Amino acid sequence: MSKTGYFTHGDCRKHEMGGGHPECPARLDAIEDRLLITGVGDALERMEAPPAPVVDIELAHGRMHVAALRGLSDQLAEEIEAGGPTHAQVDPDTAMNVHTWKAALRAAGAALAATDAVIAGELQNAFCAVRPPGHHACRDKAMGFCFLNNVAIAAKYALERHGLQRVAIVDFDVHHGNGTEDIVAGDDRILMVSFYQHPYYPEWNHSSARNLVNMPVPAYTRGMDLREMIDASWFPRLEAHRPELIFISAGFDAHREDDMGQLGLVEQDYVWITQRIKDVAQRHAKGRIVSCLEGGYNLSALARSVEAHIRVLADV
Ligand SMILES: [Zn+2]
Repeated sequence: MSKTGYFTHGDCRKHEMGGGHPECPARLDAIEDRLLITGVGDALERMEAPPAPVVDIELAHGRMHVAALRGLSDQLAEEIEAGGPTHAQVDPDTAMNVHTWKAALRAAGAALAATDAVIAGELQNAFCAVRPPGHHACRDKAMGFCFLNNVAIAAKYALERHGLQRVAIVDFDVHHGNGTEDIVAGDDRILMVSFYQHPYYPEWNHSSARNLVNMPVPAYTRGMDLREMIDASWFPRLEAHRPELIFISAGFDAHREDDMGQLGLVEQDYVWITQRIKDVAQRHAKGRIVSCLEGGYNLSALARSVEAHIRVLADV
């Protein structure tokens, strides 16, 4: 049994934050096109993402945050009806349209359904092709294109609802997953390992909690150097933690061709990282991996990198 799930939903395409915004529906189209043209999509179990139940979202987010987002969505719908603006701004670069709340529920729901399926043994691992992304969403705040923290919600869910003892989150987006850190810092059941370009977005006072392996790297770091740093800092901790399930915050904006960051990764680096994560998952987690799309804004590089990542997950 080595099936790889591919979780997505049409609502994730309908969320958009205004013309020219880099976190756009075309990102999912580029991924779909690439999986179709290469035949990789044929090797995947395609699954419809359900909406995440609010009680599960509240494992990672404050009740007021969830209520405020839903309220803002309802209010926006009323205002549009009355001829008002089509978007509600929640931070300078993050906005809701009338579909955002539903898309956010599906994105988090994808991570939850993928978690259920890999724990049940129905799937070996899964990729969630979803937006909005999640890793900047804090316990009580939407920011940086993110509303609900899909990976953090699913990590808490795996512990609280499925009774796992230890999970890991690997975040290889070019930006620091500050929202995930906000939610999981101090929860020793969750080991979070990441690298990120520093100094860079977001401005954040890093926690020194011992369950976080933060690896800031300077702009223009290339893949080979990054691999050495990753080997030295992430893997000893991952091995020692022995996670029963590994979540990936899979952002592809550290790619050399992505202008949203200035790191120098290429497809082969994503192959390498994914393989190394898979090795740890095979040793400790029965191979269980749930990977969720975060950033990645150069459509061509994003599509090629996701393909490379999924090829390793699915062995194709
Ligand atoms: Zn990013």
